[in-house]
Amino acid sequence: MIHESILIPVDLAHPEAASVMFDRARALLRPGGRLTVLHAVPDLAPHVTMEMPDDFLPEALRKADDTLRALVADAGLDADIRILTGQAPRAILDTADQVRADLILIASHRPGLSDYLLGSTAARVVRHATCSVLVIR
Ligand code: ADP
Repeated sequence: MIHESILIPVDLAHPEAASVMFDRARALLRPGGRLTVLHAVPDLAPHVTMEMPDDFLPEALRKADDTLRALVADAGLDADIRILTGQAPRAILDTADQVRADLILIASHRPGLSDYLLGSTAARVVRHATCSVLVIR
């Protein structure tokens, strides 16, 4: 089956997992289809943000945007880049609805963990997504 709108969530703490997902998207996306690549920057607790400079969050978002953009460009892909704040599963599920994704490509867990494990983000996305989810091992 060829997909119309694929969403790839990328954990920028482990960007090396992205290239396998990008290759898979290339094979599964209809020519002219929509590819969205997303990273969620975790919210910090209020007592932590109080100690941070005012521009901490905008700066973190800008850096994440630059890094993700470079990753996608290096892979030679044309994708819509999204940087959201908040918990990754919520950001992924909301974005999937927004872009009417018909497939979410997600890594099973961070690199180096045992292959039969499902990470906490991957598990929540598999459980709650309203579209198909391909878990990449
Ligand atoms: P682990 O619990 O081993 O860290 P996760 O389930 O969090 O595993 O990560 C698996 C995959 O979930 C990542 O490769 C990525 O696709 C997605 N993911 C995790 N965290 C984020 C994040 N902050 N933003 C976007 N995607 C994420």
